[in-house]
Amino acid sequence: MSFAAVGRVVAISRARELLETHRLTAPPVPVERIAKALGARVRYAPLDDALSGMAYIKDGVPIIGVNSLHHPNRQRFTIAHEIAHLVLHRDLITAEVHVDKAFVLNRDGNSATGTDALEIDANAFAAELLVPAEWLKRSIAVQADLDADDEVTALAKRFRVSTATLQNRLLSLTRDPS
Ligand SMILES: [Zn+2]
Repeated sequence: MSFAAVGRVVAISRARELLETHRLTAPPVPVERIAKALGARVRYAPLDDALSGMAYIKDGVPIIGVNSLHHPNRQRFTIAHEIAHLVLHRDLITAEVHVDKAFVLNRDGNSATGTDALEIDANAFAAELLVPAEWLKRSIAVQADLDADDEVTALAKRFRVSTATLQNRLLSLTRDPS
């Protein structure tokens, strides 16, 4: 297994641990509650559209900043992504304010091209936290026809993620069924 792949496996297992710790078994995942349980403060502010959010530690307290102008589903992904930095990359956000541009968070966690390894891991963590593979498989099993757009929309609504995020999750399930 490559170094990059190990990072992703660790990221995904940390996300699953968080779900277990909070005894979560069904969507939607309360990401803000999880952030607070980890000691973080979640702040919402209108930011430039090109920015999704940020994470940093101030006086020992993790702060997660979210672009309040983005769609609520995108805000949830941003919070999940910043939780990843808090859980996986605390050194990074302690050293400086970590700012996430919108295009970084829009990327599929499995596409490695040109993206910083830490961001790929954070996206993989966020995807698993918001749309756990197990839950998605279960949902698909009871959902009739996933080719239909409205079924994808219904699933995205249930998980409270964008349809793009849900489609990425479906793709990664077919690529890597584990
Ligand atoms: Zn990031």
